[in-house]
Amino acid sequence: AEAALRQSQKMEAVGQLTGGIAHDFNNLLAGISGSLELMQTRIGQGRLKDVDRYMAAAQGAARRAAALTHRLLAFSRRQTLAPRPTDVNHLVAGMEELIRRTVGPAIEIAVEGAPDLWTVLVDPPQLENALLNLCLNARDAMPEGGRIAIETANLRLDAAAARAHDIPPGDYLSLCVTDTGTGMAPEVIARVFEPFFTTKPIGQGTGLGLSMIYGFTQQSGGQVRIASEVGRGTRVCITLPRHHGACETEAAHATLAEAPRA
Ligand code: ADP
Repeated sequence: AEAALRQSQKMEAVGQLTGGIAHDFNNLLAGISGSLELMQTRIGQGRLKDVDRYMAAAQGAARRAAALTHRLLAFSRRQTLAPRPTDVNHLVAGMEELIRRTVGPAIEIAVEGAPDLWTVLVDPPQLENALLNLCLNARDAMPEGGRIAIETANLRLDAAAARAHDIPPGDYLSLCVTDTGTGMAPEVIARVFEPFFTTKPIGQGTGLGLSMIYGFTQQSGGQVRIASEVGRGTRVCITLPRHHGACETEAAHATLAEAPRA
């Protein structure tokens, strides 16, 4: 019975992971087809100037999709994710074009990266997916258009502030996504981290976005917080512990990836 229980727990974990990856994969496909559609329109209009950019956006999304299936394969081979010292401002900048393409022209995107931002230890594709998910939720909350602000900040939490955040005192980095959308009623906020909880029509929402972000931030020793007001908008902040140590260069990443795992 114990083996069966273990097996069923494992299946549940696999189910949650594959469900989550399918969700992220769909989002990336939406980005790719959006870019292709825009490319087709521009080519039809004879405006070839923008085509390169859309092509790059589609290629970026395709690369991320490939990284996702890699993660799935890695998991099935029982490998772990690869947390590494990450420059979040750099990560956000790398996602900006894809986010713009995916949310469409009716939504203004404002990115404000804090100067001298601390480093965090995360699996970068996982944080990229979290950011994309937050922006897609923001888009869905603004059918008439609006504004998304993406902000990073260093957060030094003393005992009192840490209590309010419900995490141990210390240095953290926050990544916040704020929209000017519909907002959420308190009874929705209370349930958003439940897997499969969604208020979206069938086929549009899986209810996995925020529950995955919750799981990921908990694993990383961080937190996710929501402030929302109906009719005004929503702010979701991911808080991650500061990593003490230098951020590696791209070259260092490459060597690290090749090094044998402990
Ligand atoms: P999904 O987006 O697939 O529904 P999520 O877990 O990401 O799954 O979100 C769960 C629910 O939380 C959404 O269906 C929506 O009701 C609500 N929600 C999430 N983000 C926002 C937002 N920025 N504005 C308004 N409602 C939101």
